[in-house]
Amino acid sequence: RALQASSSTPAKPTIFEHEFSLADRVALVSGANRGIGLEMAMAIAEAGARAVYCLDLPNMPGEEFAKVKAYVARMEGKKGEGRLEYMSADVTDQEAMWKLGEEIGSREGRMDVCVAAAGILKGDTPCLDYPAKQFKDVLAVNVNGVLFTAQAAGRQMAKFDNGGSIIMIASISGSGANQGHPWVSYNTSKSAVLQMARSMACELAPKGIRVNTISPGYINTSMTGQFLQKRPELLERWSSNNPMGRIGRPDELRGATVWLSSDASSFCTGSDILVSGGHHAW
Ligand code: NDP
Repeated sequence: RALQASSSTPAKPTIFEHEFSLADRVALVSGANRGIGLEMAMAIAEAGARAVYCLDLPNMPGEEFAKVKAYVARMEGKKGEGRLEYMSADVTDQEAMWKLGEEIGSREGRMDVCVAAAGILKGDTPCLDYPAKQFKDVLAVNVNGVLFTAQAAGRQMAKFDNGGSIIMIASISGSGANQGHPWVSYNTSKSAVLQMARSMACELAPKGIRVNTISPGYINTSMTGQFLQKRPELLERWSSNNPMGRIGRPDELRGATVWLSSDASSFCTGSDILVSGGHHAW
């Protein structure tokens, strides 16, 4: 027998209007001018966030700018549409990142969501010859930069005492390893991100601030594009190594992003969410 609500039952908000809603939230997203970061920023805005502060616009490639314009057109006139705000910042500059967090906090009076998506993959040198400068550069963005981004937002979350969700983009490279030249620095950095998130999750849990990682598999962005330009045959290898037989699209990170940003994941902290088509390690 189908259960029917009586007409006198007050309408309860749906799970999308309640747990998954980001209504009135304020977010900071690094690496948001292209690729994965941009899709995540748009998803947070589309889930109702009041403002999403995106780092950074100046280098936004034309096709990505077209995506943002299409987003703005799609959201025009829709109830609860999110505002995308662009700011420039180098995530490796701790002082600048903290200042930026303070500026957003004083403008908006709150900070709820942080996505640290900025990252680089650099070099073409075997591990035994890998130069110190390149190693330092990769760790500066992928490890220090993730910490400074989390601090920029986390300090505001703690100040406003309203909890918050920090999402760091790690990678399947953080727990697996693969053959080839540039990976020694990248894999090391992503492993560090997984551990950084767990440590911060424990420390910040009493303040109601959750810290989780998303680990994507190979995703079609300019980061992977730089490889495929030099070695197009890799696409076949990456696809055939994947149980789903393909690499991912940046928009396939949207669902995990909204879930982790929202109250729908309120008991989830220190976790790593794989979004990899089933690809775990090499
Ligand atoms: P992209 O190369 O497309 O984008 C990288 C982003 O990081 C850009 O927005 C870039 O900004 C920004 N960035 C780099 N250095 C800095 C810096 N010093 N300060 C501020 N921003 C900076 O990469 P993806 O979108 O592919 O990657 C996003 C994240 O996902 C990265 O952390 C990456 O490691 C991770 N990832 C990607 C996978 C993939 O297959 N693509 C797989 C697993 C993880 P700018 O344009 O100004 O340089």
